[in-house]
Amino acid sequence: MPVLLSIAVSTPAHSTLGSLLSYESERVLSPGTLVRVPLGRREVLGVVWGLADEPPPGVKPVSSVLEGVPPLTAAWRSGIEFAAQYYQRGLGEVALAALPPQLKDLSAEQLARRLKRQRTETPECNFDATNLVATNAEQTLAIGQIDTHPGPHLLFGVTGSGKTEVYLQAVARMLARNPQGQALVMVPEINLTPQLINRFTERFGAEQVVSMHSGMTPPQRLQSWLAAHSGAARMVLATRLGVFASIPHLKLILVDEEHDPSYKAQDGARYSARDLAVMRGKIEGATVVLGSATPSLETWNAVLQGRYQRIDLPERIGAGALPTVRRLDMNQQPPKSVIAPLLLAAIAERVARGEQSLLLLNRRGYAPVLACHACDWKSDCPHCSAYRVFHKIDRSLRCHHCGHAEPVPRACPQCGNLDISPVGRGTEKLEEHVAELLAQTKRPDGSAVRVARIDADSTRAAGELERQLAMVHGQEVDVLVGTQMVAKGHDFRHITLVAAINPDGALFSSDFRAPERLFSLLMQAGGRAGRNALMSEKSEMWVQSFYPQHPLFAALKAHDYPAFAAQQLKERQAAGMPPYSHQALVRADSRNQQAAQDYLQAVLEAALLVPGHEYITIYPPVPHPVARVANVERAQMLLESPSRKALQRFLSDWRAHLHALRDKSILRWAIDVDPLSI
Ligand SMILES: [Zn+2]
Ligand SMILES: [Zn+2]
Repeated sequence: MPVLLSIAVSTPAHSTLGSLLSYESERVLSPGTLVRVPLGRREVLGVVWGLADEPPPGVKPVSSVLEGVPPLTAAWRSGIEFAAQYYQRGLGEVALAALPPQLKDLSAEQLARRLKRQRTETPECNFDATNLVATNAEQTLAIGQIDTHPGPHLLFGVTGSGKTEVYLQAVARMLARNPQGQALVMVPEINLTPQLINRFTERFGAEQVVSMHSGMTPPQRLQSWLAAHSGAARMVLATRLGVFASIPHLKLILVDEEHDPSYKAQDGARYSARDLAVMRGKIEGATVVLGSATPSLETWNAVLQGRYQRIDLPERIGAGALPTVRRLDMNQQPPKSVIAPLLLAAIAERVARGEQSLLLLNRRGYAPVLACHACDWKSDCPHCSAYRVFHKIDRSLRCHHCGHAEPVPRACPQCGNLDISPVGRGTEKLEEHVAELLAQTKRPDGSAVRVARIDADSTRAAGELERQLAMVHGQEVDVLVGTQMVAKGHDFRHITLVAAINPDGALFSSDFRAPERLFSLLMQAGGRAGRNALMSEKSEMWVQSFYPQHPLFAALKAHDYPAFAAQQLKERQAAGMPPYSHQALVRADSRNQQAAQDYLQAVLEAALLVPGHEYITIYPPVPHPVARVANVERAQMLLESPSRKALQRFLSDWRAHLHALRDKSILRWAIDVDPLSI
């Protein structure tokens, strides 16, 4: 008598099929077992979820079992169930997306061959012996706290306060205590944090550590996954996708730079890996540590409410004081100055002393728009409701939304005027401008100043970022112009001046999280300066602003994150914004903006049929801030509730209406729970 199993498979998005399907099996397979099953004309990977009761008509048998791969644990399955439910996605979709792609593609024989090569034994390592690095009093206290208190913890410490050493020793203690224990270490972007990976492999040995990130090849991903799944790898260093990794003996989860927006997925199940890490810790009984100098306001609020434990690391180790913050009132500067004379003089002084400066501007390209002054032509993108950005380096107009690129026209395409000119300023133009302004400045050896730029454009080719960073480290650059990309993670020893060229935009942005992101970026960027103990006394952070008295800059000057957070939380509370309310965004894409909005209007009306709708505020459908991208019109609708539970319950009931009301004019729709940008 065959048994009937309920198996999670990845069904096409928005299909009417549920993602738990029933199959027959000759033998009982324990939940978590990986199998291949027929789906339509294909054979797909599935995860046994449990027993099914009612055999559907025409039930098919399981094709094969992936022998040699132990079943996924109950805790892993609970985590997947939670994520699917919370982010309003199919269970099978989330479960299967969490598995390495090769597991789905390899044949049974290929997989058997891979498994044979796979290491399953944990190499010997004396984790007590790794504990020998001296720590200061705060670090010792922090390590003890993590070791003895279940958390979740917020490890609150400025750049350079020795968070990494706390991470390393907390892991070492856990490993020493648990002969099988495993740790998950999460980082925002693997390319930007090679130093952290090096610290772990140097301390524990490369064979103890595997990494997981989207830059790896499918065979590498499978290998890492199997090493973690078999328990052979004791540490998993991963970007956000690692939060779903199978780590059967997970005891400790560290989330470095927990405030970083890249922990939130921007497509598919739009999950927050930071929030899921906290939930996973709860399910697995693992200690969770969130680390940051500028925690997200959600995390800070959880600390204030006593839900998370705060651990302070106030001191900067081996690098004396934090940089002095100097606010430059741009109202007092000569008209049209891009860099105030005082700041320019400070940069020139540093060049002459052989020190480096970092100038931050969060806009790449030469100019954000090219315009004709004879008529009203501007460099619109033909496919998007956005301007194409002028890139002088290859004389192109490029759309940063859809990628559409064209050579710059010789004359205005509308009136033929030859005098079309760039408006505004990006990193390319700033780089050019700075080089002109400093043309007479000499380095200590009498040679000319060297200005360089690091942004998404300059580092597109493989290996370019590493090469350019090496040039900065090797002091082959005197003035570095860059976007937020350079503000994260890098340990620049010779930078003694950091300047924010034009940070005002974020102060008055329609995005309520913009000030939070700006504060964190500037704190982090300031942390780049003066990491060399010998130079720190004269390290400075300059902020050019037309609103120098703004509370954000005042808090920055005092290096006072708690003051900044208090002011922001007060504003958020008054406005009923997160973390004092909970939000979800419904997005709809169509060829036609009206159709997208009509669909949202229809589902809005259907909301009145859903029990509990009275606890939810639904705002009317509006176009997305960039309404058209690559000829697709985008509309969205915001939902808000003071109760997370009420919002969750409502969304899961309402989803059926979103399915039912969709017609051919809607290309896709999605629910974004806890959206980061609106
Ligand atoms: Zn014109
Ligand atoms: Zn475009």
